[in-house]
Amino acid sequence: MIFEGRRKVHPELRTVIELQEVDRRVSELDAQIGSLPAEAAALESQLSDFLHTLEVRKERLAKNQKERRELEGEIKEIQARISKHRDQLYEVKTNEQYRAMLHEIEGEESNIRTIEDKILEKMMEADELEGHIREAESRLADEKARVGQETARLRALRQEDMDEREKLLARRKEMAASLSDDLLQVYERVRHGRGGVAVAAVREGFCTECHVALRPQLYNEVRSNEALITCESCARILYYVEPPAEPQEAADASGQAAAHH
Ligand SMILES: [Zn+2]
Repeated sequence: MIFEGRRKVHPELRTVIELQEVDRRVSELDAQIGSLPAEAAALESQLSDFLHTLEVRKERLAKNQKERRELEGEIKEIQARISKHRDQLYEVKTNEQYRAMLHEIEGEESNIRTIEDKILEKMMEADELEGHIREAESRLADEKARVGQETARLRALRQEDMDEREKLLARRKEMAASLSDDLLQVYERVRHGRGGVAVAAVREGFCTECHVALRPQLYNEVRSNEALITCESCARILYYVEPPAEPQEAADASGQAAAHH
């Protein structure tokens, strides 16, 4: 594609460019395959967080209901005491005793109001919890389905990646075998030393990987794409790419321009 219409491109140069493309894709796939377990784990933990929150709210609701029953029990006990004290009002002998008993009853009634306020708080808290629980339970099936689908998608993606990787590695083997030992050695050495990129395009006199300008004579040699030349700065194998056509030319020959880019 890069050299369309140019017949004299060095055959091994074509191969190393393709090899570079394959290696780039393989490392992209490796990175993606490597990130998938963490993505799957994140999905699992989303679901378990969801379930945990629901469980915590259910426990709080049960505790709330238990506390409410206890408070209601306390009120019953106090009411029993009040009614006993009311009966005793008829048995007291002095006004003083009568007033003391009334005072006792008032105190107990005031305790009941305090407890009733607590019960009201519990009821409001229970309403809120029940709302959250209902909402979570209605979403639970969807949430499980979503996590299930996403997990299946990740699994399928992993399989696709593995299949593509396997094909690319087979293709890589063929290409590597077709290169001379020397060139393959240069390719591998530079690839390992230069962040996985052993081949660089030259555009407008510059190596596009290290951004250093080529000496004019070297640039001229590279422009032919007929020889294997390495960058004097980064040691990458160089190939020349035609500059993009001028806008006017591109408009005149849009079909051909599209084929080039
Ligand atoms: Zn360079």
